[in-house]
Amino acid sequence: MKIILASNNGAKLAEIRAMLCPMGFEIIPQAQIGADIEVDETGKTFAENAYLKAKAVYDLTGYPVIADDSGLEVDALGGAPGVYSARYAPSGERCAKVLAEMSDVPDYGRGADFVCCICFINKDGSAKFFHGKCYGKIAKEKRGEGGFGYDPIFLYNGRTFAELSAEEKNTVSHRAKALDGLKKYLGGLS
Ligand code: IMP
Repeated sequence: MKIILASNNGAKLAEIRAMLCPMGFEIIPQAQIGADIEVDETGKTFAENAYLKAKAVYDLTGYPVIADDSGLEVDALGGAPGVYSARYAPSGERCAKVLAEMSDVPDYGRGADFVCCICFINKDGSAKFFHGKCYGKIAKEKRGEGGFGYDPIFLYNGRTFAELSAEEKNTVSHRAKALDGLKKYLGGLS
């Protein structure tokens, strides 16, 4: 089954491919099928934004589509950056902004989670949603070279996501959990 990924994010594409291709799904980035669009994320929730992205690409292509909307929620920042994770600061400055805002927060107050909502729109236009969360803490400084986005400041069991191998991240992450739900659903369709 061919599924279009409604995203221009190469790191998300790599993670989603690593998790779905072994099941026999072919994940094609939207740009490869001529849908090189950037959808305004005007929703108030991850699910609304995931749907907006998936629907825009489905309307253009008619293929089954998955869209991922995800972000970091920091307890001490009242859940920010949340749905604004991609727009919290210019690319390359986002981790530094969170670290600066957390500079006075002691260890016990540094809880955070990554959230992911996957929207799958099937060929007939029906939409399904799958959610995943991963709990951790905000580190005191950036660590690690792997991953993307906020990975260098997200501590999971003592290591940041950027210090985990791709395989390790892909077994515990918010995206892995949401994709587990999608995998079970797709398995039931075939
Ligand atoms: P969007 O889902 O395209 O709106 O972007 C979500 C933003 O949240 C990304 O640009 C990253 O900054 C952040 N994010 C989402 N998932 C992850 C992840 O697995 N690691 C690090 N940052 C993430």
